[in-house]
Amino acid sequence: MIEVRGLSKRYGDTVAVDDLTFVVKPGLVTGFLGPNGAGKSTTMRMVLGLDEPSEGAATVGGRGYRKLTAPMREVGALLDARAVHPGRTARDHLRCLAQSNGIGDRRVDEVLGVVGLESVARRRVRTFSLGMSQRLGIAGALLGDPGVLIFDEPVNGLDPEGIRWVRDLMRGLAAEGRTVLVSSHLISEMALTAQHLVVIGRGRLIADTSVEEFIGGE
Ligand code: ADP
Ligand code: ADP
Repeated sequence: MIEVRGLSKRYGDTVAVDDLTFVVKPGLVTGFLGPNGAGKSTTMRMVLGLDEPSEGAATVGGRGYRKLTAPMREVGALLDARAVHPGRTARDHLRCLAQSNGIGDRRVDEVLGVVGLESVARRRVRTFSLGMSQRLGIAGALLGDPGVLIFDEPVNGLDPEGIRWVRDLMRGLAAEGRTVLVSSHLISEMALTAQHLVVIGRGRLIADTSVEEFIGGE
């Protein structure tokens, strides 16, 4: 479970996240919906311990990761796909991530299979399409077999088949009892993927409700 309490983040005069409070429960896909610039990435980075809150706190399973990145065995994340070293092969990228987290190479080959990148595992990441980079990022999130997964705009750059694949993957991970938080600026996409919605705008909470209720009540 992810708990966000009174969470705020300011960058100079910009209020990126403004007093957010919500809970993300295990067993279902929670969509984190809001337009570009609403504060979704900033919130996710604070949950992972990659950014310091200005106020409030975010915890995962009761633990906070302030000044400490969440271990990959506990929280897996797809953030900006461009963070990957472009000169490395896909397999080397995952092996590096695995090694620094005490995860064996066998798991690397396993996740390459899960995301359908086995045949291009020895190609340099530089040659990857955005869709392939997204799959590689998802493989990284799955490496530690974590109970909590955070995906920032995972369908960006994917074709319709890829989008369906991501949707099924998210649903499957939640059905296994994991906590899954997925951000998107597309309500149409979240309506198909998520069971619960946390909706934000300009850093503030707009709704925290089931998908049916949000769409029905609009
Ligand atoms: P979203 O993920 O919903 O698109 P972000 O969390 O990326 O939104 O951004 C929220 C706001 O915070 C935006 O106005 C953005 O410009 C600002 N912001 C995000 N990161 C930084 C940063 N490192 N420095 C300054 N402003 C930032
Ligand atoms: P570097 O600073 O060497 O690029 P980072 O530690 O910042 O390495 O991150 C490497 C990659 O791992 C990034 O793509 C990032 O999105 C991803 N990442 C960071 N934290 C986690 C996590 N807890 N679970 C899964 N992936 C993560």
